[in-house]
Amino acid sequence: MTSPNGLEGPAPTTGAGPDRVLIDATQARAQLQALAVDGYPVTWLAARIGCAASGLGQIRSGQRAHTHRSIAARIHDLHHQYAGTPATDHSVPDHDSSITRTIAGREHWTTITPTTSTPPPARIEDRFLARTTPTADGHLLWNGLPDLYWEGQRHKPGRVAFRIRTGRDPVGHVTADCGHPGCVHPGHVEDAAGRKRLREQLRAIGGLRAATGRMTAQTAPGARETAGRTHTNQ
Ligand SMILES: [Zn+2]
Repeated sequence: MTSPNGLEGPAPTTGAGPDRVLIDATQARAQLQALAVDGYPVTWLAARIGCAASGLGQIRSGQRAHTHRSIAARIHDLHHQYAGTPATDHSVPDHDSSITRTIAGREHWTTITPTTSTPPPARIEDRFLARTTPTADGHLLWNGLPDLYWEGQRHKPGRVAFRIRTGRDPVGHVTADCGHPGCVHPGHVEDAAGRKRLREQLRAIGGLRAATGRMTAQTAPGARETAGRTHTNQ
Protein backbone atom coordinates (compact mmCIF):
# COMPACT_ATOMS: atom_id res chain seq x y z
CA MET A 1 0.00 0.00 0.00
CA THR A 2 1.36 3.40 -0.93
CA SER A 3 0.38 6.39 1.13
CA PRO A 4 0.95 9.92 -0.08
CA ASN A 5 2.03 10.61 3.49
CA GLY A 6 5.23 8.83 2.61
CA LEU A 7 6.33 12.19 1.27
CA GLU A 8 6.32 13.55 4.80
CA GLY A 9 8.23 10.71 6.41
CA PRO A 10 7.52 7.13 7.33
CA ALA A 11 3.93 6.41 8.29
CA PRO A 12 3.60 4.35 11.48
CA THR A 13 2.38 0.84 10.91
CA THR A 14 -0.47 -0.53 12.95
CA GLY A 15 1.87 -2.82 14.81
CA ALA A 16 4.15 0.00 15.90
CA GLY A 17 1.63 2.45 17.25
CA PRO A 18 1.85 4.23 20.60
CA ASP A 19 0.17 1.27 22.27
CA ARG A 20 3.36 -0.65 21.55
CA VAL A 21 5.64 1.85 23.23
CA LEU A 22 7.97 -0.02 25.56
CA ILE A 23 8.56 1.18 29.08
CA ASP A 24 10.65 -0.10 31.95
CA ALA A 25 9.00 -3.16 33.52
CA THR A 26 10.47 -2.83 37.02
CA GLN A 27 7.25 -1.74 38.65
CA ALA A 28 5.13 -4.22 36.70
CA ARG A 29 7.50 -7.00 37.81
CA ALA A 30 7.19 -6.01 41.48
CA GLN A 31 3.41 -5.88 41.15
CA LEU A 32 3.20 -9.32 39.54
CA GLN A 33 5.51 -10.76 42.21
CA ALA A 34 3.38 -9.21 44.94
CA LEU A 35 0.28 -10.72 43.37
CA ALA A 36 2.05 -14.09 43.32
CA VAL A 37 2.63 -13.80 47.07
CA ASP A 38 -1.15 -13.54 47.41
CA GLY A 39 -1.54 -16.57 45.15
CA TYR A 40 -2.50 -15.02 41.80
CA PRO A 41 -1.07 -17.07 38.91
CA VAL A 42 -0.08 -15.31 35.69
CA THR A 43 -2.59 -17.46 33.77
CA TRP A 44 -5.44 -16.04 35.84
CA LEU A 45 -4.11 -12.48 35.60
CA ALA A 46 -3.46 -12.76 31.86
CA ALA A 47 -7.04 -13.86 31.30
CA ARG A 48 -8.24 -10.75 33.17
CA ILE A 49 -6.32 -8.33 30.95
CA GLY A 50 -6.41 -10.23 27.68
CA CYS A 51 -2.73 -10.88 27.10
CA ALA A 52 -0.43 -13.90 26.95
CA ALA A 53 0.36 -15.61 30.27
CA SER A 54 3.87 -16.37 29.00
CA GLY A 55 4.52 -12.65 28.55
CA LEU A 56 3.39 -11.87 32.10
CA GLY A 57 5.51 -14.75 33.36
CA GLN A 58 8.58 -13.26 31.69
CA ILE A 59 7.90 -9.85 33.19
CA ARG A 60 7.41 -11.40 36.64
CA SER A 61 10.63 -13.41 36.49
CA GLY A 62 12.66 -10.45 35.21
CA GLN A 63 13.35 -12.05 31.82
CA ARG A 64 11.67 -9.08 30.23
CA ALA A 65 13.06 -5.72 31.30
CA HIS A 66 10.51 -3.79 29.26
CA THR A 67 6.83 -4.06 28.58
CA HIS A 68 4.22 -2.25 26.54
CA ARG A 69 2.83 0.78 28.27
CA SER A 70 -0.73 -0.51 27.99
CA ILE A 71 0.22 -3.84 29.61
CA ALA A 72 1.98 -2.04 32.47
CA ALA A 73 -1.14 0.05 33.02
CA ARG A 74 -3.31 -3.07 33.17
CA ILE A 75 -0.93 -4.82 35.57
CA HIS A 76 -1.04 -1.74 37.74
CA ASP A 77 -4.85 -1.89 37.80
CA LEU A 78 -4.80 -5.60 38.68
CA HIS A 79 -2.41 -4.98 41.53
CA HIS A 80 -4.52 -2.12 42.80
CA GLN A 81 -7.64 -4.27 42.66
CA TYR A 82 -6.36 -7.57 44.09
CA ALA A 83 -3.18 -7.04 46.10
CA GLY A 84 -3.54 -7.99 49.74
CA THR A 85 -6.61 -10.16 49.21
CA PRO A 86 -6.35 -13.96 49.00
CA ALA A 87 -6.61 -15.22 45.44
CA THR A 88 -9.00 -17.95 46.54
CA ASP A 89 -11.50 -15.20 47.40
CA HIS A 90 -11.54 -14.36 43.69
CA SER A 91 -12.26 -17.73 42.12
CA VAL A 92 -8.59 -18.71 41.67
CA PRO A 93 -8.54 -22.51 42.15
CA ASP A 94 -6.93 -23.57 45.44
CA HIS A 95 -4.38 -25.76 43.68
CA ASP A 96 -3.23 -23.00 41.29
CA SER A 97 -3.06 -20.46 44.07
CA SER A 98 -1.01 -22.81 46.22
CA ILE A 99 1.53 -23.48 43.45
CA THR A 100 1.89 -19.73 42.82
CA ARG A 101 2.44 -19.01 46.52
CA THR A 102 5.07 -21.75 46.64
CA ILE A 103 6.94 -20.18 43.71
CA ALA A 104 6.73 -16.75 45.37
CA GLY A 105 8.16 -18.19 48.59
CA ARG A 106 10.98 -20.00 46.81
CA GLU A 107 11.90 -16.82 44.89
CA HIS A 108 11.61 -14.63 47.99
CA TRP A 109 9.15 -12.32 46.31
CA THR A 110 7.55 -9.71 48.53
CA THR A 111 4.36 -7.75 48.65
CA ILE A 112 4.20 -4.06 47.89
CA THR A 113 1.32 -1.87 48.87
CA PRO A 114 -0.60 -0.31 46.00
CA THR A 115 -0.04 3.16 47.45
CA THR A 116 3.72 2.91 46.93
CA SER A 117 3.29 2.46 43.20
CA THR A 118 2.26 5.04 40.66
CA PRO A 119 0.31 4.23 37.52
CA PRO A 120 2.13 4.59 34.20
CA PRO A 121 1.09 7.93 32.71
CA ALA A 122 -2.21 7.60 30.93
CA ARG A 123 -2.11 8.74 27.35
CA ILE A 124 -4.80 9.72 24.93
CA GLU A 125 -2.98 7.59 22.34
CA ASP A 126 -3.57 4.45 24.40
CA ARG A 127 -7.23 5.32 24.80
CA PHE A 128 -7.44 5.96 21.06
CA LEU A 129 -5.84 2.64 20.10
CA ALA A 130 -7.98 0.72 22.58
CA ARG A 131 -10.98 1.80 20.55
CA THR A 132 -9.70 0.89 17.11
CA THR A 133 -9.54 -2.33 15.14
CA PRO A 134 -6.85 -2.99 12.51
CA THR A 135 -8.05 -4.43 9.21
CA ALA A 136 -6.25 -7.20 7.35
CA ASP A 137 -5.29 -4.75 4.60
CA GLY A 138 -3.58 -2.24 6.89
CA HIS A 139 -6.26 0.25 7.87
CA LEU A 140 -7.44 1.14 11.35
CA LEU A 141 -11.15 1.41 12.03
CA TRP A 142 -12.78 3.38 14.79
CA ASN A 143 -15.15 1.48 17.11
CA GLY A 144 -17.90 2.64 19.35
CA LEU A 145 -19.14 6.12 19.84
CA PRO A 146 -18.11 8.75 17.30
CA ASP A 147 -15.79 10.74 19.50
CA LEU A 148 -13.21 10.22 22.22
CA TYR A 149 -13.55 11.85 25.62
CA TRP A 150 -10.32 12.72 27.33
CA GLU A 151 -9.86 14.89 30.42
CA GLY A 152 -13.37 16.24 30.05
CA GLN A 153 -12.99 17.18 26.41
CA ARG A 154 -14.31 15.64 23.25
CA HIS A 155 -11.80 14.70 20.55
CA LYS A 156 -12.49 13.60 17.01
CA PRO A 157 -10.65 10.30 16.34
CA GLY A 158 -9.19 11.53 13.06
CA ARG A 159 -7.67 14.56 14.78
CA VAL A 160 -6.18 12.38 17.54
CA ALA A 161 -4.73 10.11 14.85
CA PHE A 162 -3.18 13.13 13.15
CA ARG A 163 -1.60 14.30 16.42
CA ILE A 164 -0.20 10.81 17.04
CA ARG A 165 1.67 10.95 13.74
CA THR A 166 2.73 14.56 13.66
CA GLY A 167 2.82 15.61 17.31
CA ARG A 168 0.89 18.78 16.48
CA ASP A 169 -2.71 19.92 16.16
CA PRO A 170 -4.19 19.62 12.69
CA VAL A 171 -5.08 22.69 10.63
CA GLY A 172 -8.59 22.54 9.17
CA HIS A 173 -10.47 19.34 8.49
CA VAL A 174 -8.78 15.96 8.92
CA THR A 175 -9.69 13.32 6.35
CA ALA A 176 -8.41 9.83 5.57
CA ASP A 177 -6.73 9.87 2.18
CA CYS A 178 -6.49 6.08 1.84
CA GLY A 179 -10.04 5.86 0.56
CA HIS A 180 -11.09 3.34 3.22
CA PRO A 181 -14.35 4.52 4.84
CA GLY A 182 -13.95 5.19 8.56
CA CYS A 183 -10.17 4.70 8.58
CA VAL A 184 -8.33 6.52 11.39
CA HIS A 185 -4.85 5.09 10.79
CA PRO A 186 -2.39 7.80 11.86
CA GLY A 187 -0.47 7.24 8.64
CA HIS A 188 -3.59 7.66 6.52
CA VAL A 189 -5.07 10.90 7.85
CA GLU A 190 -4.16 14.36 6.62
CA ASP A 191 -5.16 17.89 7.54
CA ALA A 192 -5.98 20.76 5.19
CA ALA A 193 -2.41 22.08 5.33
CA GLY A 194 -1.02 18.63 4.56
CA ARG A 195 -3.37 18.16 1.62
CA LYS A 196 -2.31 21.54 0.21
CA ARG A 197 1.36 20.65 0.61
CA LEU A 198 0.71 17.31 -1.04
CA ARG A 199 -0.98 18.96 -4.03
CA GLU A 200 2.02 21.25 -4.39
CA GLN A 201 4.42 18.31 -4.21
CA LEU A 202 2.40 16.40 -6.81
CA ARG A 203 2.36 19.49 -9.04
CA ALA A 204 6.13 19.78 -8.64
CA ILE A 205 6.55 16.11 -9.56
CA GLY A 206 4.23 16.64 -12.54
CA GLY A 207 6.31 19.66 -13.64
CA LEU A 208 9.51 17.65 -13.24
CA ARG A 209 8.05 14.83 -15.36
CA ALA A 210 7.07 17.28 -18.06
CA ALA A 211 10.57 18.80 -18.02
CA THR A 212 12.18 15.34 -18.12
CA GLY A 213 9.85 14.47 -21.01
CA ARG A 214 11.02 17.57 -22.95
CA MET A 215 14.68 16.75 -22.30
CA THR A 216 14.15 13.17 -23.49
CA ALA A 217 12.46 14.42 -26.65
CA GLN A 218 15.35 16.78 -27.33
CA THR A 219 18.05 14.12 -26.89
CA ALA A 220 16.17 11.34 -28.70
CA PRO A 221 17.42 10.45 -32.23
CA GLY A 222 15.98 12.92 -34.68
CA ALA A 223 14.68 15.10 -31.90
CA ARG A 224 17.28 17.81 -32.53
CA GLU A 225 16.28 17.95 -36.16
CA THR A 226 12.59 18.16 -35.25
CA ALA A 227 13.26 20.75 -32.60
CA GLY A 228 15.43 22.71 -35.02
CA ARG A 229 12.78 22.63 -37.67
CA THR A 230 10.21 23.78 -35.19
CA HIS A 231 12.53 26.57 -34.22
CA THR A 232 13.13 27.54 -37.87
CA ASN A 233 9.46 27.55 -38.59
CA GLN A 234 8.78 30.05 -35.86
ZN1 LIG B 1 -6.62 3.66 5.82
